[in-house]
Amino acid sequence: MRLKDKVALVTGASSGIGKGIAIRFAAEGARVIINYRPNSPHDKAAAQALASSLADRAIAVAADVSQRIEVEQMMDAALAAFGRLDIAVCNAGICPEQPFLETTDDHWNQVLGVNLYGAFVVSQLAARQMVRQGEGGKIIFTSSVHEDIPYPRYTAYCASKGGLRLMMRNIALELAPHKINVNNIAPGAIATPMNQTVLDDPEEMEKALREIPWGRFGQPEEIAAVATFLASDDASYVTGSTYFVDGGLTHQVSAY
Ligand code: NAP
Repeated sequence: MRLKDKVALVTGASSGIGKGIAIRFAAEGARVIINYRPNSPHDKAAAQALASSLADRAIAVAADVSQRIEVEQMMDAALAAFGRLDIAVCNAGICPEQPFLETTDDHWNQVLGVNLYGAFVVSQLAARQMVRQGEGGKIIFTSSVHEDIPYPRYTAYCASKGGLRLMMRNIALELAPHKINVNNIAPGAIATPMNQTVLDDPEEMEKALREIPWGRFGQPEEIAAVATFLASDDASYVTGSTYFVDGGLTHQVSAY
């Protein structure tokens, strides 16, 4: 058990990659705060079902990560339940399409609000708690191959993930004196609800697979494996790095 008795917060953990990470962390001995988006009955049910399947090792907590007050309340709930925080995975994200010429302020603010500002707020409050505890900690962001690779029609998404790329590096330097490791995981194409339309469309699937040297989509468990490494003591000297988990996609991508 690589995370025995650690306390881990995972945002956007009712679905996809976050859910995979929460399950693996619990299996590795961690106590887990499963964050889900409020006002979504489906997410609430999924998060609560996951928490109860992990028995007394997990709680489900609603918070829109783009609202500081809700993130503060989530931190309070986490501390009330488990008394400390050792690991924060800033994973919640959205990926709506909108061509640049038609991109509205609402679209831009929503995507940047969840993907970048949300990650900023969650990591800041987590880091403050870790500093108070004085025993180091681990912060992991789920960025994307699009922290580097352009993706036409997804300018706001790319801006948010590109922002995460440098925000993570900056935070890693500022938190180094506190022995808080800060890293990104950059997934390629992973089989989650975020990609459901592609997964359900054979033609789109064929196009997508042509870009992936490994010849298939990744699974949430394969992201969770890297997250477990980064959250564990094995990664004690790893900070300020992005781990690409993409079946080679980054090196082959041609045109979208
Ligand atoms: P997913 O299954 O849609 O999961 C995203 C989770 O984030 C959902 O539970 C979602 O809830 C939640 N969320 C959205 N807005 C939120 C908010 N304001 N506050 C709290 N939670 C919120 O997609 P996924 O593929 O697992 O994505 C997880 C992360 O991986 C994202 O940051 C995404 O950008 C990144 N990523 C994914 C891929 C991929 O191929 N799947 C590739 C690269 C990067 P709702 O379902 O209610 O919106």
